[in-house]
Amino acid sequence: MSSNIQLIFERGNDAEQQNYIPKMDIDETNVDKIIPESLLRKDLPIPNIPEVEIDRHFIKLSNKNYGVDTGIYPLGSCTMKYNPKINEYIARLSGFTKVHSLQEENEGSLKLIHHLSILLGEITGMDGFTLQPAAGAHGELVGLLIMKKYFEIKQIQKQKIIIPDSAHGTNPASAKMAGFSIIELQSNSQGEVPLDQLKFAMQEGDVAGIMLTNPNTLGVFDRQIKEITKIVHEYGGLCYYDGANLNPMLGICRPRDMGFDIVHLNLHKTFSTPHGGGGPGSGPIGVTEELVPFLPEPCLISTTHGIICSENNTNSIGRIRAFWGNFGVIVRAYAYILALGSEGLRRVGQISVLNANYLRVLLQKNFNLPYNRICQHEFVISDRNLPNEITTEDIAKRILDYGLYAPTIYFPLIVSGAMMVEPTETESKHSLDFFVEVMNKIYEETKQNPDILKKAPHNTAVKRLDAVLAARNPILHD
Ligand SMILES: *Cc1c(COP(=O)(O)O)cnc(C)c1O
Repeated sequence: MSSNIQLIFERGNDAEQQNYIPKMDIDETNVDKIIPESLLRKDLPIPNIPEVEIDRHFIKLSNKNYGVDTGIYPLGSCTMKYNPKINEYIARLSGFTKVHSLQEENEGSLKLIHHLSILLGEITGMDGFTLQPAAGAHGELVGLLIMKKYFEIKQIQKQKIIIPDSAHGTNPASAKMAGFSIIELQSNSQGEVPLDQLKFAMQEGDVAGIMLTNPNTLGVFDRQIKEITKIVHEYGGLCYYDGANLNPMLGICRPRDMGFDIVHLNLHKTFSTPHGGGGPGSGPIGVTEELVPFLPEPCLISTTHGIICSENNTNSIGRIRAFWGNFGVIVRAYAYILALGSEGLRRVGQISVLNANYLRVLLQKNFNLPYNRICQHEFVISDRNLPNEITTEDIAKRILDYGLYAPTIYFPLIVSGAMMVEPTETESKHSLDFFVEVMNKIYEETKQNPDILKKAPHNTAVKRLDAVLAARNPILHD
């Protein structure tokens, strides 16, 4: 470990400790008689450090972190919104944390899972849900395995999936994992799916269906969505909805009404689970009535005797993970949806769209907006025409100097130098204005002081990393 990093992460001194905890009252010299020799380590280098210093050390480290609780987090496609703390409290109630799937009495938990499935059904229009998938990408795989089994049972050969070039990378990855090959569709100048090319691809005959995000990763709602799903259905295909962008649709537009057969949701994005650290997540899958028998097992069925588990569905794709899913995430989503109710959810959708459009209009004065139209919850600007060859990376690094988080950069791939901004409904006008102020200041710097941008960030614990060197000469351990 380099001495620089050591300085940040390691502390220790020989100062006399102020012992709050009394000394051990066993004979220390006798300790190897009490604990077997094989379990004793003689060389354990525990730093000699008072409790207060440890406390300060970790608080300082945590202050180097940035999160939704620190400031705006406009990371497009990720829906990094504020998660109400009451939902953390609820998910930690011992009635939820101390149950186990194998215990006999857990009807309360099963009821919660079942009722959340029904609520998600109302929100999306789908007939049946499984809450088992552990994340969006896992849900995609499950959805595609359902598609696959559906055609297997019907004894129809279908090998291909159509995916537009604006899709999230997990879409083609999941399709590949499920054993499909991919037909990539080039979005048109409006950022939408070109109908003539869709028809052309469907005519090939062995297309199982399409995977779509709507609004897509450009933040653009495909106005021909009903036509798209109709064409796919006409040729015997199924339509898969990547629901990672459901936030602006809440209470306004249902994937089922757009014509989709299979839907995944990202509970950790849309429904109140912090996910900046990378997990845990939850990627429920919802399907139409025709596909319900294919859902993974175990399924929950509501009967007059209460909720029962079913595990003998011949068409099911089988088990996809242990037990019932990431239950803590499910509890948070349930609490969030019940607290907001249908009116509250609609408001989430509306404000997320309003906030994004507010930023879009203000930012497009100085930054290139490749798809110049009303957006949904997010939009994409780019580094095109910035003076002094300033790039998206320079802008993103400089934003950090102002104490904010940067948008998603260089994605979607179809916009060169993309910056994808998703403010979410939980940012106030004041916070949005501050983001615009910072972006405008940075824009002035691109003209007046480009060097400061090229070398940014200047105020962070770690400065700009040499990405080329890191890739060529990776040091994977110390
Ligand atoms: C986040 C995201 C996914 C993948 O979801 P994970 O929960 O991260 O696996 C898929 N599609 C889109 C559009 C996304 O934004």
